[in-house]
Amino acid sequence: WAKADGKGQWALFDPVRNANEVAQFRLSAKMPAALERGEFYVDYQPLVGLRDFGVVGVEALVRWAHPELGRLGPDKFIALAEETGLIVQLGRWVLREACRQARKWQDDFGAAAPFISVNLAVRQSRDPNLVAHVAEILEETGLEPSRLQLELTESAIMGTADEPLDALRALSRMGVRIAIDDFGTGYSNLAYLRHLPVHELKIAGSFMEGLRDAECADPVDARIVGTLVDLAHALGLTVTAEGVETHAQARRMAEIGCETGQGYLFARPCTPEDIRDFIASRLD
Ligand code: C2E
Ligand code: MG
Ligand code: MG
Ligand code: MG
Repeated sequence: WAKADGKGQWALFDPVRNANEVAQFRLSAKMPAALERGEFYVDYQPLVGLRDFGVVGVEALVRWAHPELGRLGPDKFIALAEETGLIVQLGRWVLREACRQARKWQDDFGAAAPFISVNLAVRQSRDPNLVAHVAEILEETGLEPSRLQLELTESAIMGTADEPLDALRALSRMGVRIAIDDFGTGYSNLAYLRHLPVHELKIAGSFMEGLRDAECADPVDARIVGTLVDLAHALGLTVTAEGVETHAQARRMAEIGCETGQGYLFARPCTPEDIRDFIASRLD
């Protein structure tokens, strides 16, 4: 493997990089069996209305209970699953699991039930079977299509071929909500947004940093966020602020007109039972 550079030296062999690559390779090789064995699970985090603090939606966030390495967050394995293509199966599993859970909230809370918001990887958005799979899972779980939201990043949605957009249009016609995740971190063509079947913008948590404390709110951050919210509203979209950690951020976003917030201030990602209690506690 480590090839000589022509002078008889092992110049390309970097043991640290190599060990890391081996570890990554081993991890990705273990994922299919882990999926079979049920080592993946989903945590849930509420999207909270900034006016009445009711639970509007719930985001599904996948985790891996690895037998040796412990709990792994998605940052450790989603990119690997994208590379190997396993993301299509893993993503379908997450979608089914999340919809099953949301169906229970639909039964428990009726009209007050939140929608479930599920992340879609780029590769899933380009999967020709996407629409059929979503329809099948909605049918199988009995979840109302309007209680499902799919989150895509700007790069998954912008400047792509027509097929993924056709799929999103078909999903939108079924009544499924489409959200753009981490908005503001990519290179969106804002004018292009009006031609997309999108219902919600989720403003990336990085914009919350400048709004952390009421006294030293960064005026530039505040104006950028205000402009994003105005733009979204002009396009008829709702807005969720991600990464809300302080009261000052929640208050500021409410003033700006942002409908919902998500973040540690309200709740960390947690079990479905915790979510049910959280919804119930805000109904009274
Ligand atoms: P995301 O979709 O933007 O999800 C929000 C992330 O922010 C989550 O990280 C959540 O735990 C974290 N977060 C929530 N509130 C706060 C806060 O107040 N402060 C801070 N600093 N962070 C907060 P997590 O669970 O580690 O997920 C990371 C990313 O992995 C997600 O970002 C999403 O892009 C991806 N991901 C998660 N689940 C799935 C999945 O089922 N499929 C795919 N394709 N991607 C997923
Ligand atoms: Mg998300
Ligand atoms: Mg996000
Ligand atoms: Mg993210």
